[in-house]
Amino acid sequence: MRICRFNDDRVGIVRGDKVFDVTSETNGAAEPALALGEFLDVEKRKALPLAEVRLLSPLRAPGKILAAPVNYKAHIAEMQKNNVSPGFNIWDIEKAGLFLKATSSLVGPSEGIAQRFLDRRTDHEVELVVIIGKKTSKVDRETALQYVAGYCLGLDVTVRGSEDRSFRKSIDTYTVLGPWLTTADEIPDPGKLRIRLEQNGELRQDASTSDLLWDVARLIEFASSFYTLHPGDVFFTGTPQGVSPIRPGDRLRASSDALGTMLVEVREAS
Ligand code: MN
Repeated sequence: MRICRFNDDRVGIVRGDKVFDVTSETNGAAEPALALGEFLDVEKRKALPLAEVRLLSPLRAPGKILAAPVNYKAHIAEMQKNNVSPGFNIWDIEKAGLFLKATSSLVGPSEGIAQRFLDRRTDHEVELVVIIGKKTSKVDRETALQYVAGYCLGLDVTVRGSEDRSFRKSIDTYTVLGPWLTTADEIPDPGKLRIRLEQNGELRQDASTSDLLWDVARLIEFASSFYTLHPGDVFFTGTPQGVSPIRPGDRLRASSDALGTMLVEVREAS
């Protein structure tokens, strides 16, 4: 199932180029994308053309947004070469640890990125994002995937610099989630997904999650050794190579055959 939030907080199931409105089935749940059972009669619901809806973040209010740094070898190499984040020279997740992004930075694709600090380098980072579905703590990697509700694409927008990651990556709108949540039953192996990012029609990032240094199961094991993971928690798994600066006016297109496509516009923050 592909579950989206759209327009004024409606909940929909995406099939082909249509969105079927199932808001009435979520019974006012705090996190409606996690509250749906299976539908047999989806196509009897009111349908809207996918191209005409405003996509919001599939998660409304995650308790935390976790993120992995330095999780693709080729991205580590480009960061070492470009030296754009001085002071950051730990290239091993075990030692660097994870970081947390402020939940107030979360937006959906239709809201776009409002860029601040135009004099500082700010990069797109497209990533596979894991959505936790069941509460767990100290889970081992062998069973970790049982706690996943689904997956989506994310942009971990990043101001480069010497400050703490959580500080530079938590600016309003710098966490984009979309286009919808694809439930885990449709993704038997999250280690075989191709993810891409185009900037104004030019391909910048194009990688397979088979190149993740720490795969999804190992990341969940590690995170849950520190924190209880709760339904709706969001986990960015790290960006592959090809990060590059964004500017107001840019049109970013993140895509994955398995997870869909999202268009995100960059503007100057007012
Ligand atoms: Mn990142």
